[in-house]
Amino acid sequence: MARVYNFSAGPAMLPEEVLREAAAEMLDYHGSGMSVMEMSHRGKIFDRIIKEAEADLRELMNIPDNYKVLFMQGGAHLQFSAVPMNLMKNGKAAYILTGQWAKKAQAEAARYGDAVVVASSADKTFSYIPDCSDLDIPEDADYVYICENNTIYGTKFWELPNTKGHILVSDISSCFLSEPVDVTKYGVLYGGVQKNIGPAGIVIAIIREDLITDDVMEKTPTMLKWKTHADNDSLYNTPPTYTIYICGKVFKWLKKQGGLEAMKERNEKKAKLLYDYLDSSKLFRGTVEKKDRSIMNVPFVIGDKDLEAQFVKEAEAEGLVSLKGHRSVGGMRASIYNAMPYEGVAALVDFMKRFEAAHPAQ
Ligand SMILES: *Cc1c(COP(=O)(O)O)cnc(C)c1O
Repeated sequence: MARVYNFSAGPAMLPEEVLREAAAEMLDYHGSGMSVMEMSHRGKIFDRIIKEAEADLRELMNIPDNYKVLFMQGGAHLQFSAVPMNLMKNGKAAYILTGQWAKKAQAEAARYGDAVVVASSADKTFSYIPDCSDLDIPEDADYVYICENNTIYGTKFWELPNTKGHILVSDISSCFLSEPVDVTKYGVLYGGVQKNIGPAGIVIAIIREDLITDDVMEKTPTMLKWKTHADNDSLYNTPPTYTIYICGKVFKWLKKQGGLEAMKERNEKKAKLLYDYLDSSKLFRGTVEKKDRSIMNVPFVIGDKDLEAQFVKEAEAEGLVSLKGHRSVGGMRASIYNAMPYEGVAALVDFMKRFEAAHPAQ
């Protein structure tokens, strides 16, 4: 069996060590005689799994006591609705559009209130992060919303917007646990786990306690009320137990790697290898402004559709898979999350060099 280097944007690569451990525990988890998939979410064993997962995440991210950690379903998409339903008290919020996910979140919020666009990089196909140091944010906006790492376009907010005292809500799906963050700068951080943490199935939200209340929009579904999940330790209904179990294993793996400082260093090193080559190449080029480059998702193009298709196909034959760019952007994209080893990026760059030598730019 040969494992490939999987550059998928999500569901994405998982640490091999975690997969091996899960495989070893598949038929009999810790002497229980059953797999984690088969046991009650209300039993002692699973209770320990979910509590340890939360404790490890809190330790990794240094989450203060006045923030709740919620494991919920419906992906990041359902939070596009949950955010306005739980937070819009004045019926107004400010959105910064830096890509498709922020656009979708804004469009969803606009169904429930006034979702004012205060900045956008749509003018240059989301290839940069707009200057957010002095935005015209409505006084009565209930929050300011960003998508912190733009999975499709490959940009990242390296500096958070000046919210002028408003609550900051951030979708961190594709940069979750890629580097240390200062949780206290946010009201809400949330992300689907299938990008940089675990298998698809849950979204983790880290929410300041005072923002979790019964004062939500009228007729908000019970399952969309953050308080429902906070009051029930994320066990209001049956959660995707196996996903939570694997996420817990990834948290332990991250701790063993040295935590988020160590991950940041590794991720920067991987990204630098790829970006340095892109900057020197005459065939390939990156598509976004250098100062705003993501270290998780790296889109690049050749500018010739046939050659790009050939590149993706030949890369796959070398065990470098899922390099095709998002359908809305074209070209290629390498997602190099925590679980992608340095050797994977080195193998990609080596292949790109050979491909360039075989197809010199005109
Ligand atoms: C993938 C992604 C989403 C959508 O996630 P789902 O879990 O499919 O709803 C939203 N935001 C960002 C930043 C993403 O990368």
